[in-house]
Amino acid sequence: MLNDEFDVAVLGCGPTGVVLTNLLGLLGVRVVVLEREREVYPVPRATHIDEETLRNFQATGLMEELLPHTSPFGTIEVADESGKVLLRDRVADPTSPHGYAGSRFFDQSTFERILRKGLERFPSVELRTGVEATSVHDDGEYVVVGARGDAGDILLRAKWVVGCEGGRSVTREAIGASMESVAPRRPWLIADTLLRNPADATLLPDGFRYVLANERLTIYAHGFGLNRRWEFQLAEGEDAPSRETVISWISAFIDPARLEILRVVPYAHTSLLASSWRKGRIFIAGDAAHMMPPSAGQGMCSGVRDAVNLAWKLHRVISGAAGETLLDTYEQERSPHVREILLGTLFIGNRLLGDSLFQRWRRRQTLRVISSVPPVREYARKRGLRRPQLRGGFLDTSSPLAGRFFPQFETDRGGVCFRSDDDLGYRFARFSARQPRLDERIAHWMRQHGVDWVVVRPDRYVYAAGKGELTGFQDLQD
Ligand SMILES: Cc1cc2nc3c(=O)[nH]c(=O)nc-3n(C[C@H](O)[C@H](O)[C@H](O)COP(=O)(O)OP(=O)(O)OC[C@H]3O[C@@H](n4cnc5c(N)ncnc54)[C@H](O)[C@@H]3O)c2cc1C
Repeated sequence: MLNDEFDVAVLGCGPTGVVLTNLLGLLGVRVVVLEREREVYPVPRATHIDEETLRNFQATGLMEELLPHTSPFGTIEVADESGKVLLRDRVADPTSPHGYAGSRFFDQSTFERILRKGLERFPSVELRTGVEATSVHDDGEYVVVGARGDAGDILLRAKWVVGCEGGRSVTREAIGASMESVAPRRPWLIADTLLRNPADATLLPDGFRYVLANERLTIYAHGFGLNRRWEFQLAEGEDAPSRETVISWISAFIDPARLEILRVVPYAHTSLLASSWRKGRIFIAGDAAHMMPPSAGQGMCSGVRDAVNLAWKLHRVISGAAGETLLDTYEQERSPHVREILLGTLFIGNRLLGDSLFQRWRRRQTLRVISSVPPVREYARKRGLRRPQLRGGFLDTSSPLAGRFFPQFETDRGGVCFRSDDDLGYRFARFSARQPRLDERIAHWMRQHGVDWVVVRPDRYVYAAGKGELTGFQDLQD
């Protein structure tokens, strides 16, 4: 028996699903989101968010609540086994168009709780926790989702389904997508800890530190608040070490008695991209569509990019403002973008590998050059932390600026920061140099780029820009 009918069913309420559902809720779409677990997982996995993703979280309208659960990122360092720093670099891009002064650490669990609570703002959204999606079937007109919960089995219908269930996605299976492995899988081990005494924060680095031990590459991540994480590379086939062994490894950084050990878990670095992201009425997003090592902190950021890319497109199609071909642009835009981000992550990771004597020699030479030759450092930063623009998809390709990001401006009003996206909302925006009271910063941006008008997508990419009178594009008004 079919229990219910929705415009969209989102399967999985992790970072990708919860942002997508908030955005659909803002747009008034009738959504059900099914989440297997009753509660948000209490230990953070992601620790780093970049400026673009902060801006994307802002689109949910919840930034005021989220921002206090972030802190400035600090630096990235590469150190040798003795702790000598071989390379120190910033992650923040001073030319970033997104506002925010750079990447931040954040508390993933608190973010997810705030975003789940945020769903209560929308009468058109229903969150069902403790419900596991078990099957997804597109019958052409609707998608039928089968699920299992405490109250028994459920069947519901939705016009569109987005699988955001992470790496083990039933939706991905349903669309018959396979995962392309872009780089070998590597076994790692994670130790998540909490500093017992905040005063001990000064004993450890303030950002990310890669430690190039001969035996095993180690990553230390500061994390939000008192969270401190170590990740240890394991050799292929190596047995997972005992908790005591891991604690002894941590003792090279700090007296473990100063830490509460939250968890020690094995974790594989994988580099996977789905062969397709959509079939008919069914989509996948987030880790269901791509997985990458955490070396550049981009896994969740990429899933949130999927969400802001897809929500407005689904809304336009559901509301009848656009035809279904608009939805083809989701994969066209997102798949190559994620591939580039993943290649950047691998660029960083591969420079740090030291499996053989030769690799260790090469890594030292590379780091020496990167740290001492500024143009090489800039090149390495661009390759590793690349943020590609859109090159195709739903863009007016006759405009040279199409596919670039439209800037966000911050204004300090009596100590409170106002961000210009908040005035625009998650919808299309149009600006003309001839409009009265145009923000001088936008006018300046237009002059800089030699245009008189610009049309901006809800996800803040420039759709079109040009000279002369702004005419047309009325169909893009919501
Ligand atoms: C150690 C580590 C460090 C990381 N560091 C970073 C970082 O610094 N920055 C960054 O951007 N990313 C980082 N990542 C990656 C990031 O955690 C993931 O990319 C992100 O969590 C993916 O979000 P998601 O919502 O797509 O999937 P998930 O987080 O996996 O969420 C999926 C959700 O779906 C639910 N679910 C699963 N199956 C079903 C089902 N059948 N029915 C209903 N619900 C279901 C799950 O319970 C879960 O809530 C890191 C990952 C790890 C492991």
